[in-house]
Amino acid sequence: MKNSTPRCENPWEVIIIGGGAAGLFCAATAAMRGKKVLVLESANQIGKKILMSGGGRCNFTNRKVEPENFVSNNIHFCKSALSQYTENDFISLVELNDLEYEERKNGQLFCKHTARDIVTLLTNECVDHDVTIRTSARVKSVTRKTSGFYSVELSTANEETVEVLSCSSLVVASGGLSVPTLGGSDIGYVIARAFGLTITDISAGLVPFMFSDEILSLCKSLTGCSVSITASCNGISFTGDMLFTHRGISGPTILQISSYWKPGDAVTINLMPKHDAASHLLNLKNESPKSLLRTVLTRDLPKALAAGLEELWWPNQSESPLADWENSKIKSIGALLNGWVVKPSSTEGYRTAEVTLGGVNTDAIKSKSMECKEFPKLFFIGEVLDVTGHLGGFNFQWAWSSGYVAGLHV
Ligand SMILES: Cc1cc2nc3c(=O)[nH]c(=O)nc-3n(C[C@H](O)[C@H](O)[C@H](O)COP(=O)(O)OP(=O)(O)OC[C@H]3O[C@@H](n4cnc5c(N)ncnc54)[C@H](O)[C@@H]3O)c2cc1C
Repeated sequence: MKNSTPRCENPWEVIIIGGGAAGLFCAATAAMRGKKVLVLESANQIGKKILMSGGGRCNFTNRKVEPENFVSNNIHFCKSALSQYTENDFISLVELNDLEYEERKNGQLFCKHTARDIVTLLTNECVDHDVTIRTSARVKSVTRKTSGFYSVELSTANEETVEVLSCSSLVVASGGLSVPTLGGSDIGYVIARAFGLTITDISAGLVPFMFSDEILSLCKSLTGCSVSITASCNGISFTGDMLFTHRGISGPTILQISSYWKPGDAVTINLMPKHDAASHLLNLKNESPKSLLRTVLTRDLPKALAAGLEELWWPNQSESPLADWENSKIKSIGALLNGWVVKPSSTEGYRTAEVTLGGVNTDAIKSKSMECKEFPKLFFIGEVLDVTGHLGGFNFQWAWSSGYVAGLHV
């Protein structure tokens, strides 16, 4: 380090750690109240994750946001913030800024053109209200002085300079561990622990599954193949598309169920959610007794999948017409189709996970304001908290809502 002597500047009213969705929204909200706000962002630009979100179109909220769309050890915690700043509030903001958007399946709202529209919207809201944003500013630690001020130590310019800033309100909006290349970091947990707060178990969420058994070769051979399924794990089910990949399975339904999976758990996949597969197949046997099972299955499943399942489940009867099949055997294949039990070896982890499940324990946080119960004017917002949304725009809505309520109280 060339300059290791910490420099202390005049206190800021508000310092926000993290220039992501929650931090920027909180900054704009606080600045609109006349607060002098500084955002510290470790990356060389703000909103990196927003830019990459929703396949570059940012699924910025959902038409219908309910507490049930969130995973947390305290499912009631998110209610207050979500009701103080709702999905309709954010939609109104988007419309006020003439930003074009489109609605997709299940009420998901995406930018019509590019996710950059959302970053521009947030940047404008900040710039219009004189928020100071510093990029390439990595926060290393935080302490609380006896005066009640917070002291923030950061490194800048290739980690060569160390600076110490102080503020009366501090907001931790540094997100979770997911996707390190987009800014994922543990600093929020480090800060929370330094203040004696606990972190619930954390793991990768909204993430593809991987396999190491015979399912892996099936997945590899089916890479790119998509099928409509119901996936269930630990009493929770989601219906929608599943995608085979060269590592395992992915697609919206798998990402959703991954948030309820723990290592060692099995996942049940219903490949024919619209049918009682056993009776459906028995009907098909009556209708087309000369057909092969893989042939009739292509009415409901992709051809490649039917062939792949044949290799797995009935390799010795692959060329037997349905008429030659015993009904009991057909029923057992039907049961497998409605309840294929697979055991992922792991998930793809934080490298590709859209979110980090778990986080700062909400027991220590006031749900109305996101302020720490024990330490006045210390706030945690967004993904760093133990609040994780389902796929569908819920994570950004949590960032807006939690950022907004903190912005009202800093
Ligand atoms: C690929 C991908 C696609 C996604 N798509 C969607 C989607 O379409 N819809 C949806 O609702 N959700 C989506 N998500 C989830 C969503 O992006 C996050 O839940 C959301 O961004 C969380 O907001 P946040 O502000 O809490 O954290 P982040 O957006 O992660 O922001 C935290 C910021 O803090 C910065 N930071 C970290 N450490 C430090 C430090 N030491 N000092 C200073 N700054 C630091 C980071 O660089 C980052 O910019 C997606 C996630 C990923 C990874």
